[in-house]
Amino acid sequence: MTDAISDDAAWAAVLRRDRAFDGRFVTGVLTTGIYCRPSCAARHPARGNVRFFADGSGARAAGLRACKRCLPDDVGRDEAAVLAAIDEIRQAEDAPSLTALAELTGYSPTHFQRVFKRSIGLSPAAYARALREERARDALSGGGDVTGAIYEAGYGSASRFYENTKGLLGMTASAWANGGAGVTIHWAVVDTSMGAMLVAATDKGVCRLSFNEDASELARRFPKAELVEGGAAFEKLLAEVVASVEAPGDFAHIPLDVKGTAFQEACWKALREIPAGETRTYAEIAAAAGNPTAVRAAGSANARNNVAVLIPCHRVIRTGGDLGGYAYGLDIKRELLKREAK
Ligand SMILES: [Zn+2]
Repeated sequence: MTDAISDDAAWAAVLRRDRAFDGRFVTGVLTTGIYCRPSCAARHPARGNVRFFADGSGARAAGLRACKRCLPDDVGRDEAAVLAAIDEIRQAEDAPSLTALAELTGYSPTHFQRVFKRSIGLSPAAYARALREERARDALSGGGDVTGAIYEAGYGSASRFYENTKGLLGMTASAWANGGAGVTIHWAVVDTSMGAMLVAATDKGVCRLSFNEDASELARRFPKAELVEGGAAFEKLLAEVVASVEAPGDFAHIPLDVKGTAFQEACWKALREIPAGETRTYAEIAAAAGNPTAVRAAGSANARNNVAVLIPCHRVIRTGGDLGGYAYGLDIKRELLKREAK
């Protein structure tokens, strides 16, 4: 499709609804005659019906129309609007109203609210609130590592938003938006009492923990990273991780290297704060992450968790006590919860 992105990488980005790829290609759906941003929230088409185009004009030349839901031709305008609003919010004494921000950017208030939230993961008001709290905290502590680079707003492209995100967790994040280019990942598959466990880490921390997977899954998720099996420094971390999983509960000290949107990271942080032996519902996670109405988004943040167990998404169950789902099967979820209940 383009020099930079293979069709496989493009399809993987579509399946992840990865906003970092918005503006870098569009997804044409031949059966419906529509083209979308990679992150379009609509149901995924069958892979066989998809053709990728470098941009909207290529898709239109092939006879496709822009999706009315994700407005794939507005990526540049949306980015500029979000950055302008962030500037305005950061400079204002009092948080500007949604109407004022909409006026500034030339969108209707409801549409601008949607565009901002899609890009940042928070509404403009919630963003202003988070910024205020963060500044208060910084003033108290004389600094700190909490500021997401997302708040510094990459001033260029949406993908830089995400590449540079240091995250609300104080977790560091490698340049994942570019498929892990320039990053070395050490990995190993070890036998545990719950089956084969894959652990992978950069020099910053664990970037994937999963069950019943091999290195091909790493190559799919981090296509440009250098994958190295084993390694002395890694073995030490690996031993700690295995010990934490076998006797679950205490793993707050294990460094992670993960990156999501501001809201996803807020959800992951909320997951890390659930004490071992307790569970929460998606609604409770959404509320803890600062957006009680975003229950489905909390569910998808859970699903996108790269680091099982250490970001304990297994501690989320359905309202009413049903176990819900688990990426690696309910047997493992049940076993983890059983151990932690002790
Ligand atoms: Zn769409």
